[in-house]
Parts: sequence; C-alpha cells; structure tokens
Amino acid sequence: MIFHVLTIFPDFFRGPFEHGVVARARQAGPVEIRIHDLRNWTYDRHRSVDDRPFGGGEGMLLKPGPIFEAVETIWPERDSGRRKVILLSAQGELFDQSVARRLSQARELLLVCGRYEGVDERVSEQLADEELSIGDYVLSGGELAAAVVIDAVARLLPGVLGNQASSVFESFGDGGEERGILDSPHYTRPADFRGWQVPGVLLGGDHAAVREWRRRAALEKTRRRRPELLERKRQSGCVRTVEGLK
Ligand code: SAM
Repeated sequence: MIFHVLTIFPDFFRGPFEHGVVARARQAGPVEIRIHDLRNWTYDRHRSVDDRPFGGGEGMLLKPGPIFEAVETIWPERDSGRRKVILLSAQGELFDQSVARRLSQARELLLVCGRYEGVDERVSEQLADEELSIGDYVLSGGELAAAVVIDAVARLLPGVLGNQASSVFESFGDGGEERGILDSPHYTRPADFRGWQVPGVLLGGDHAAVREWRRRAALEKTRRRRPELLERKRQSGCVRTVEGLK
C-alpha cells in the first residue's frame, strides 16, 4: 500500500517510520510512504499556505488552494474505491481498529495534516473521502495523527507482521468470538519477579487450560478497563463472551 502524507512539516516524519515493523515493511516492499511538502503548491515569495478566517476569530487556517492542487497533482485521476483522501481532524469520525481494517483494503491513502486553527472547510466538504480523529482531544497538528493511522493500518497489511495471527488475536482484533475486546495479560521470564508470581496455569503446559485462562483474563480486564466494549458485545448477542464473566 502507498501512504501519501501532505504536510507543512515534512521533516516531522523522519523518525516515526524508521523503526520496527513499519520500517521493515518499507524495506521489504508492502508499504511505501511518500511525504509531500504542502508548500510545493504555493506560488508567492513566502510560500504561504494559511490565511485569516472569514468572519474573524482566532488563528489562521490552511487555505484550500494548495491542498486541492497537491491532491490533484499526486492523483490526477481519483478512484475513490481504492484511493482515499483522509483529512485528519478533531471533528472527524473516531479512528479505531475497525476503521483501520477498512482502510487496509485501500490501495493508496493520502493523509492531509491540518495545522493552526485547522483547514478551510471546503477540503472536508469537497475533497476528503473521510475525516478522521484519533481521539477526543486537540493536537496542534495532524502529523502525529497521520503517523498513528499509518502505523495502525500498515501492520494489518499482508506480509507486514511476521505472524499474521498477531493482528487477529490482540486487543480489538477480529479473531473468533472474542473479537472486539482487550488482549489478555502476558508475562515473560522470570516467573518470580520481586515476589510477584506469574499465574501458575501459564507455566503448566496445559494448552487448553491456558486458552481458557486467557479468555477469562481478557474478559475480566475488559470489564475493569473498558466495560462499554463488553456492553457492545452483549447487545450484539455474543453469549459465550458474556458468560465468561460469571
Ligand atoms: N480548531 C480545531 C478544532 O477545534 O477542532 C483544532 C485545530 S488543531 C489545533 C490543528 C490540526 O491538528 C487539525 O486541523 C487537525 O489536522 C489536527 N488535529 C487536532 N486534533 C486532532 C485529532 N484529535 N485527530 C486528528 N487530527 C487532529
């Protein structure tokens, strides 16, 4: 998959994709990341991308012109089925694992990073296929959000994770009837760390017992930390999951 990022801070992306899973995927081929400097689509001496909001108010807005031109240059032909323009915005749909799974079906994504007070609304209305927020808080720019979206989507692509099952049986995964809840707790050596013991069942080699312990532990952790996820499963009629809490 090709990820394009449109930003006024191209150097921001020197770090985030040069480590771990995404860096390996870039080297091996399934992931390509192209960073585009929005100022390349400006024509004045100051290469200005922002202007004051009509009607007054705080701060500056990114102008529509450079953003539209950039997208039209990067993709002279749009194919909204497989190429999606995504505007990062605190006002967008909440980005979660199911959105990441949906986006992983696209061939190319173009992520538009806002700055200042945001972006002229015509970008949302007339250009973006989707407007996504990574959480109910306000960041100072869309770059961190774009990095989050790319990381979460990239690891779902075939061939990116060493073990594809990892992305199925993890928090919010879509593995079997336990999908949509948190991962179970995990432990590694030493079995006794400062007197805190690893649960005995994990040391016994009984795979069925380990599976059942993990299922219950995941449910219990979800109940404590994210009860609304279980409520959603209750409503969707997932009986065994709910029974796991009895
Ligand atoms: N005035 C905007 C508002 O109240 O919704 C906030 C603008 S914010 C300071 C500047 C840029 O950061 C936004 O245009 C957007 O690209 C990005 N941004 C801020 N919060 C975000 C979030 N929760 N998710 C995704 N992008 C966000």
